Amino acid sequence: MSHDPQNLSRRDLMRIGATGVAAASIAGLPVTAAEKAAPDKLPKRRYGRTGLEIGWLVGASDWAKELVPRAVSAGVNYWHKAQAWNANTLPPILKTLPRESYYLECVVDRVNGDHTRGRIDEEQHYQFVKTRVKEAGVGYYDVFKFHFGYHSVDDAKKNPGMVRAFERLKKEGLVKHLAISQHHYPSIGGDMAWEILDYLADNRPYDATQFFYTYGDRKEVQEWIDVAKKKDIGTIAMKTMGGVGRAAHDAKFQKLLADPKYQGSTPGAAMVKWLNSNQNLTAAVIATKNFDQFHENVGAAASLAMGPQDHAALSLLSGYNKGLTCLLCAQCVTSCPEHIGISDIFRYERYARDYREFERARSEYAALTRNGTSCVGCGDCLPTCSQEIDIAAKLKDVHRLLG
Ligand code: SF4
Ligand code: SF4
Repeated sequence: MSHDPQNLSRRDLMRIGATGVAAASIAGLPVTAAEKAAPDKLPKRRYGRTGLEIGWLVGASDWAKELVPRAVSAGVNYWHKAQAWNANTLPPILKTLPRESYYLECVVDRVNGDHTRGRIDEEQHYQFVKTRVKEAGVGYYDVFKFHFGYHSVDDAKKNPGMVRAFERLKKEGLVKHLAISQHHYPSIGGDMAWEILDYLADNRPYDATQFFYTYGDRKEVQEWIDVAKKKDIGTIAMKTMGGVGRAAHDAKFQKLLADPKYQGSTPGAAMVKWLNSNQNLTAAVIATKNFDQFHENVGAAASLAMGPQDHAALSLLSGYNKGLTCLLCAQCVTSCPEHIGISDIFRYERYARDYREFERARSEYAALTRNGTSCVGCGDCLPTCSQEIDIAAKLKDVHRLLG
């Protein structure tokens, strides 16, 4: 079997799990005429108090354009980061559909810096969305999403600019619902995502939320999903495929996966089923770069339940990830006297090793003020890591990879 993602055959993809390969930078795989459209079978769930019924797999503007018609036919109707499309690049299939039959999300970033150093600026966010609506010719965005979110509960209390920009745009009919993609911020003295989301649920008009969530994650994330369900707030999981991409390229892992007890499953498909079995979770964002991968994801999302082979595949992945793959839980970060954004650094490593997006990983890593070289090897972080990662050693390794 080829281990070059650009040269994987369809059979290779089936063997290693298309979802796993996902991530493996295979956007260049050719589209074949023989490919059949996926049947319209993706389950839909209510996206909290937005009231939108969205397909369980969230589409994204960075998907290959050839994939979009297939996705639409399979029931993908919610498009993440749609602000990246302008009138010329908006997928033709969407232009043929009634505007109310699909949902476009516009993500809005802080200005004058990245998500840790930038600031919230009502007027600039307002103007940004207004311009994007005009240039894309879409009439309005269904969801205005604050990208990366607040640094802390205090930040959310003191900075109403994002909400105000939304309210102005809503009044003009340019956006309909307010959502947030919330990260953890202990590395800059801030709060964990669920703490901030808990505050927002009762104090700000956010209808829907997005956050890191994967198998083996901290119980607080599951608790937030349950709270959100009770409060009718939408929930989308992101960074869901921890370790799946690198396992797909690991010959030793693939040898283990060949055991009959895993037959009919793959770590990627099992992860999709596991996520989908959580009835309180609205949907998931999963990097998707080819047809096989997409079909596998839709097939897994449409399946009724996890079978023993799925549980076995997830368990195999979980063991593989121990000591190797960061789950981005940020548990370690507060213990670091050097204030290193450990989970951010390991997120970039995941872009590189799981998604094969080296350029993006290197560019994000280069923008850090404190990178892996700031580690003094004190070991204070070690006891905190549920993944039993030798964090100091891994920081060195990641610096060699991305520095
Ligand atoms: S070993 Fe490095 S990363 Fe861990 S707490 Fe010490 S300085 Fe921070
Ligand atoms: S290194 Fe360990 S504790 Fe730190 S974010 Fe990753 S999984 Fe969590």
